Amino acid sequence: MGACHGPRLVEFHKTPTHLQFNKYVLTGYRPISSAQECLRSLFYVHNELGNIYTHGESSSHIYTHGESSHIYTHGESSHIYKHGESSHIYKHGESSHIYKHGESSHIYTHGESSHIYTHGESSHIYTHGESSHIYTHGESSHIYTHGESSHIYTHGESSHIYTHGESSHIYTHGESSHIYTNGESSHIYTHGESSHIYKHGIPFFLFLVLLPLSIPWGEVDSVWICVVHYLACLSPTVGSVLYHLFMNHVGGEGVYDNLLSLDMFGVCLVNTLGALPIIHITLLCYPGVRQLALLIYILLSAYGIYCATTARTNVLRLRAFAWQGVFRLGLFLFRMFGRGVGSPRSLRLFFTMDALAVLGGVVNIVQVPERLSPGLFDNWGNSHQIMHVMVVCSIIYLHWGTLEDLDWIKSFECPLE
Ligand SMILES: [Zn+2]
Repeated sequence: MGACHGPRLVEFHKTPTHLQFNKYVLTGYRPISSAQECLRSLFYVHNELGNIYTHGESSSHIYTHGESSHIYTHGESSHIYKHGESSHIYKHGESSHIYKHGESSHIYTHGESSHIYTHGESSHIYTHGESSHIYTHGESSHIYTHGESSHIYTHGESSHIYTHGESSHIYTHGESSHIYTNGESSHIYTHGESSHIYKHGIPFFLFLVLLPLSIPWGEVDSVWICVVHYLACLSPTVGSVLYHLFMNHVGGEGVYDNLLSLDMFGVCLVNTLGALPIIHITLLCYPGVRQLALLIYILLSAYGIYCATTARTNVLRLRAFAWQGVFRLGLFLFRMFGRGVGSPRSLRLFFTMDALAVLGGVVNIVQVPERLSPGLFDNWGNSHQIMHVMVVCSIIYLHWGTLEDLDWIKSFECPLE
């Protein structure tokens, strides 16, 4: 990343007490800052950066649409050659070479030395990192990369490629390939139609972009399920990014407490909204019971929101979600052994979802690994970041499970009693 120089970072005992919540993270604290300085901290390394980026670059970029060419660059030695209509190119970094030929290409890069050559219609390319080489030729390619040295060559229609990691080489040729990778040195060569390859840990901003693409809005009778599910997946990330970004605001403890409540509120929303479609589908054949169950769950959630936003410790925060968890467990058991319905494939995904969420909460409480080696995990790899990654994975499992159920519901009819 083309990191800029930030202010002098401070040590644990020099931060205000309301920011001293992990005594095993010794350094890398941002000084008390204005809102503008908080925003600037997106671009230099400190001990909250991982917590911001594991929930991604949420909605901090707003691009408006229009005619003619909009090119915004920030950096040295940019070479941009374009030929076509309505090209939007936003770059931030050094030495990006962008050659395009076609209509309506959207290219956003942030980093050093990105080479992007496109030829075709409606290519959307978002990169963040160093030395990405992307050559596309075709229609409607969506490519999102985040990492170092990704080489991607596509030729065909409607390829969606999302990578996050180092040195991914991806060559595709065909129609409608969806490839999501996260990791180092993945080599993926596909040739054919409709191949789906998913690897772990998709960064957040994909939720924003990818989720609406994968939700079958038009195929479901109850559109509210899709809306509620989308809001559920998005909400924890919004609160979390704001909390971590502005926690050292000059407003002090008052601002901090409100941000923390917002962060917890986001987690409450995914717990609440995420479960409503599961309850609805499990009790599909019992309309009366279903409405009662939805009402009870919403009341439990309201109590959970109150507990979570007023809790003073991590243990109490995790415990605020206990009743909702117990309710969901009962629901899953009713599907397994009782008369609840739903896709046979989704239950395993929902169990994994809850297991990951609980595990993440426990890791956050026990403060491992930084407890074992204080100071070693200040900026990267501490328990809170591990929890973030687990929460993101948990949401992905919620999403996959809900997609299974939505697919299943299309061909299901309740038996006549
Ligand atoms: Zn967090």
